[in-house]
Amino acid sequence: MSSSTENSSIKLRHAACASDEEKLAFIEEMTANADAVQAKVLAEILTQNADTEYLQRYKLGGAIDRAAFKAKIPMVTYEDLRLDIRRIADGDRSPVVCADPIKEFFTRELINKGLKLTWMHARMPSSGTSAGECKLIPMTAEEWERRSLLASFCRPIVNSYIPGLDKGMGLYFMFIMVERETPGGLLARPASTSHYKSHHFRTGYSTSTYTSPLATVLCPDHFQSMYAQMLCGLVYRLRVLRLGSIFASGLLHAIRFLQLHWEQLTQDIATGTLRSQITDIDIRNAVAEVLKPDPALAELIRVECSSANWAGIVTKIWPNTKYLDTIVTGIMTQYIPALEYYGSGLPMVCTAYGSSECFCSLNLHPMSKPDEVSYTIMPFMAYFEFLPLNSNMAGESTMNAPLQLVDLVDVEVGKEYETVITTYAGLYRYRMGDILRVVGFHNTTPQFQFVRRKNVLLSIERNRTNEVELQQAVERASKLLKPWGASVLEYTSQAYTQCIPGHYVIYLELCVEEGEGRRWPAKETMEACCLEMEEAMNDFYRELRVLEGSIGPLEIRLVSGGTFEELMEDAITRGASVNQYKVPRCVARPSIIELLDSRVVETYSSPACPKWSPHQT
Ligand code: AMP
Repeated sequence: MSSSTENSSIKLRHAACASDEEKLAFIEEMTANADAVQAKVLAEILTQNADTEYLQRYKLGGAIDRAAFKAKIPMVTYEDLRLDIRRIADGDRSPVVCADPIKEFFTRELINKGLKLTWMHARMPSSGTSAGECKLIPMTAEEWERRSLLASFCRPIVNSYIPGLDKGMGLYFMFIMVERETPGGLLARPASTSHYKSHHFRTGYSTSTYTSPLATVLCPDHFQSMYAQMLCGLVYRLRVLRLGSIFASGLLHAIRFLQLHWEQLTQDIATGTLRSQITDIDIRNAVAEVLKPDPALAELIRVECSSANWAGIVTKIWPNTKYLDTIVTGIMTQYIPALEYYGSGLPMVCTAYGSSECFCSLNLHPMSKPDEVSYTIMPFMAYFEFLPLNSNMAGESTMNAPLQLVDLVDVEVGKEYETVITTYAGLYRYRMGDILRVVGFHNTTPQFQFVRRKNVLLSIERNRTNEVELQQAVERASKLLKPWGASVLEYTSQAYTQCIPGHYVIYLELCVEEGEGRRWPAKETMEACCLEMEEAMNDFYRELRVLEGSIGPLEIRLVSGGTFEELMEDAITRGASVNQYKVPRCVARPSIIELLDSRVVETYSSPACPKWSPHQT
């Protein structure tokens, strides 16, 4: 690999076609020279984008050094960029934030429900739902390539720890989601959908690497896609060496699918015919190449799946699996026990950490236990700064105060930071919203553990719900209780993941007015409250709930009077201040959940799915 003084864009192009060894050497070289690489990345970004409206607005005057950048460019959140992004989405092709043309947007659910993109509403009839809430992250062709390059580093890293993976296949569940178009004609879609639909992915896709034929990945009908991917995964069971999905919740969703559909799947395998319910012609043609009548295989799967004991089902059906390829850090840790159960202790490998805004880190020690996983930031992906957690003024204006942002190589082990990124695609000093803890260094580059996402209260599957959203959902449900003279006295919530799919549980303590004809709300009313809360949830929640079925019906657990008093007393005995005590709006501690559950008098679940349609956004 060439010397570290060479222009980093040229080096990246070299790396893209390098061998596995060269890719690993490239990582070593970049992480050994992190500060120099960072200076060069910043200079490149500022040179490339010097004439953009955004940088000119802050009068950088063509400067490309860190000092000028830090002095003049403010730290921002998505809200601060909203109008610029909206202009681009509406069709402004001038260099607003980035010199390279914006090719598309990656969508990301918006945590703060107050920030709606009004153009989305302009396009659709008012549905009374909270549709249209997603961040649009600008993406250029060059940035896209950079990310693909980083993704291509994952395999060599894992291969260096688990030899022989090239001798078998991966059963890796991949799905595309609905795409939208902005008024200016740009596609807005999740990063993974963009990746799977790209020319790069499709031409490089090898059916000797993955059990899923490409057509099964590219089918937007989630059921048909999942059915066909599972079917092919079963047919190739002995060749499967790794099993995965981007996030652990997705892998568990697939296991749940097998639980629900093994009978149909085994019938199809026995007869060698794909059932007529799968109508996508490309899937049918692709599966026809793979599926042959195999009654013995069907019987084996039937025996395993019909057993009441699903412990170790993964290794029973796919006995050569060496590891589970899925993210189990951050909000996904809640799924580790389930994966241990189904995978009977198979290692869980988290290869990378990143987001729609910036795909940036790799796990250089993929065999680490989940609680020891750390991610090394790749210094060539963007310019990174870090906001120490104690100076993180969440919720306050981010545009004015001089903030002490720390450079990549200057972070300290043991401290927590929010990542602030400057990307080639037009984000400058942008707060990513993830809190990371430094746990060590690889060469001169820090390694981080993912701690949590800022502002997230409840999280299930890939959806995240904040305190404000939950509060609004409870308020909407409360309106249905009014005719009964009932109101919500207190509430809290839990992401319930002991069943698949997981779902939100809302604990409610109600108060019913005294008076003639007053009584506890009927079951139908309480069920309507469940549904009303789901209608109030963000668009992405409802998409996962309706389209994917990867979130189950919301459940209300009604607790007896006085329960929340007890909760407070419990907190106080554990040292909480009476003056400052606030009811936790989300509970996770087993002893508190136990207390709440022991006071439950009734439970209710949503009787139907909330409204969601691909055309809403
Ligand atoms: P998205 O932009 O929808 O891809 O979501 C990205 C978010 O998922 C990040 O900001 C993190 O909060 C979370 N995430 C991504 N990768 C990981 C990981 N390896 N471990 C924990 N959380 C992750």
